This record gives sequence, C-alpha cells and structure tokens, in this order.
Amino acid sequence: MDCIFCQIVEGKIPSDIVYQDEEIIAFRDIKPQAPLHLVIIPRKHIPSLDQLKESDSALVGRMVAVANQLAKDEGVAQKGYRVVINCGKEGGQLVPHLHLHLLGGRKLSDQIG
Ligand code: 5GP
Ligand code: ZN
Repeated sequence: MDCIFCQIVEGKIPSDIVYQDEEIIAFRDIKPQAPLHLVIIPRKHIPSLDQLKESDSALVGRMVAVANQLAKDEGVAQKGYRVVINCGKEGGQLVPHLHLHLLGGRKLSDQIG
C-alpha cells in the first residue's frame, strides 16, 4: 500500500513522533501551519472520516483525548488550540488516511475555513 501515513506507521518514512500507543501515533507536520502543528492518526488505515464505521467511534474519541493531552504537554492548552479533521476534496483532505490536526501557538483565524 502506498499510503504515506501507513508508511509512517510502519517506520518506512521517518517522522518526528511525539506520541504512540497500540492504536494511535502523533507526529509533527512536515509543513507546519502554526508553531505547534501535530498530526494524530490511527495505526489502522481508515481512508477518511466519511468512511468511519460505528465500531471506530471509540478510536476517534481516543484520538481527540490524545490531542487534548498533547496540547497540555506541548504547552498550548491554556492559551487555546484548534483540532481539525479535513474530509474529502472540498474539505481539503490531501492524505487519504484519517487524521486529526492539532494547531496552536499562535492566534488562529476567527474564521474556520
Ligand atoms: P490534509 O490536508 O490531508 O488534512 O493534511 C495532511 C497533512 O499531512 C499536511 O498538513 C501535510 O503537511 C502533512 N504531511 C504530508 N506528508 C507528510 C509526511 O511525509 N510527513 C509529515 N510529518 N507530514 C506530512
Ligand atoms: Zn494509510
């Protein structure tokens, strides 16, 4: 499979991993849009939010909890941060492996998109 994020999970593409457990990994975005820009992904390949199964709900809940913890660890929790999931072409999703962006460390736009 030529999925970039699956290759990061398998260690075939190097990345700056900041968190990992049996289900989830988080790493620094290669093209950060903010002083803190982490990407949080499930190890398992889920193509997009649109493809989520009901049985994946707990996993996505855990991804959000990991984002919350990393925001604390990286020192942005108090000032505030943003968590984003892009879905599909018009949603701006470029990598077809479900992921959550954690952005912080600067004042983000008041507009969502
Ligand atoms: P999307 O637009 O799909 O929501 O976001 C994909 C994100 O993955 C982008 O912010 C992009 O910079 C990041 N990205 C793409 N390829 C790599 C990579 O090989 N390594 C890392 N660390 N980030 C990547
Ligand atoms: Zn994948």
